[in-house]
Amino acid sequence: MIRRMKWPGWVVLLLVLAVCILGINQVLAKYSSAESDEPEEKTPDSSVYPGLNLQTKTKETDLYTTSISQPYTEISSINQPINQWINNQKETFIKSVKQNKQTLKQNDFRAHLNIQVDTQKIAEKIYTLEFSAYQIAGGANGTNTVKSFTIDLTENKILKLDDVLDMNKETIEQIQKLTKEALYRDKDVKPYIMNDLLEKALQDPKDWEWSINNKNMTLYFDEYEIAAGAAGEIRAAIPIDEIKPYLNETFAKKLDVKIPEKDTQDKEETDHPNESALHPDGKYIALTFDDGPDPNVTPRILETLQKHDAKATFFMLGSQVEYYPELANKVEEAGHEIGNHTMHHQDLTINQQPAIKQEVQQASDIIQQATGQAPSLFRPPYGASNKTVEKVAEKMDTPISMWSVDSLDWKSRNADAVHKEVMANAAPGSIVLLHDIHPSTADALPEVIASLEKEGYQMVTVSQLLQLWNEQGIGPYYGKIG
Ligand code: ZN
Repeated sequence: MIRRMKWPGWVVLLLVLAVCILGINQVLAKYSSAESDEPEEKTPDSSVYPGLNLQTKTKETDLYTTSISQPYTEISSINQPINQWINNQKETFIKSVKQNKQTLKQNDFRAHLNIQVDTQKIAEKIYTLEFSAYQIAGGANGTNTVKSFTIDLTENKILKLDDVLDMNKETIEQIQKLTKEALYRDKDVKPYIMNDLLEKALQDPKDWEWSINNKNMTLYFDEYEIAAGAAGEIRAAIPIDEIKPYLNETFAKKLDVKIPEKDTQDKEETDHPNESALHPDGKYIALTFDDGPDPNVTPRILETLQKHDAKATFFMLGSQVEYYPELANKVEEAGHEIGNHTMHHQDLTINQQPAIKQEVQQASDIIQQATGQAPSLFRPPYGASNKTVEKVAEKMDTPISMWSVDSLDWKSRNADAVHKEVMANAAPGSIVLLHDIHPSTADALPEVIASLEKEGYQMVTVSQLLQLWNEQGIGPYYGKIG
């Protein structure tokens, strides 16, 4: 029996309230056309990977949570195969959730799908996207699937093996040989390899999962594909010098392009003159924006906040900050607060402590690198927390900050619904959950802020609210309960 969340009584009350509101909300959503996830307008080129953007989509239901980091380009023939692979992962996951429905309910366990991507620039406008999809739907262990795409935005296509290598009998035999050598060199992997499975996996180049950069060519094998499960998923990295004789000439030229080092210079620390103490009798509210930064939505949110001289807190994903460090820095420079929302939006409650720590630490480092400041607060994805998660947050000195008003913007995707939801539940001291990844949330914000101002609210950061509560020796006042 796994207890997923241990929340104080006010949260339970809040959840009851949320269920009441949910009913109304679903009716509202029915009458408003749902917004498409795909950005309709051209995405501004603010990514550190020119031509390539990233959106992390999350979803939660009673039975499962998902978080999917999806890179996208302007080229649909590149996006399409990536979408298709992701959709296949989703379908498999939903199918096994349905199969395990009873067990999940009995064990009070939420299934989880997490698709993360490791992006590597290998030459000017040529990138490797290495996906890792982890799914757990009951049972002791989840499964991990890896998939790699090499995309060339100078030719607007996904590279196939024969775009990269001179494919002939000799090349194939050599790659097979070099892969085996690479695997046997790896002491952690070697004892688990099953040779007959390895032979089978290497036989047909059409089945190879591979990527290439100026250091290695890597072949990927799923968990159980060539070895006992204990070895997990396996990578065979062949040094590029060994591959060079078999490289396609055109591609070899592109690979030789000097790859500029990433700008790791620490940014100057920004002072926060605005974070002064609040007046004890003031009427304050904290707007929070999760899952960004997003190149389409976050700049619009910043603009609206600036117009009203409103301050907010952004719980950023490390995966998004990696793509948009300048955008993260802009948020910081505008005087808003930045919180940590982990690296990959996993449900942390299914992880062990070292994995949780890594998710939090990695995001903290990336945020600090981009903004010069380590995040001051922490919000676990899906609000899913337990004792272990609390311990990690405590060790990292980033208090856990949940919310008291859920705008349900992730569900309604409708500006009017977001406005109604916030105004129906806002109270002095509320922490409002919003997401700076939905255009509809940016659409709603001017009206939300105007209405809040009309009611006398001032918009402040979560840390400012916490400071006020500490001074007054009171707990937070959460929503219009009781
Ligand atoms: Zn989130």
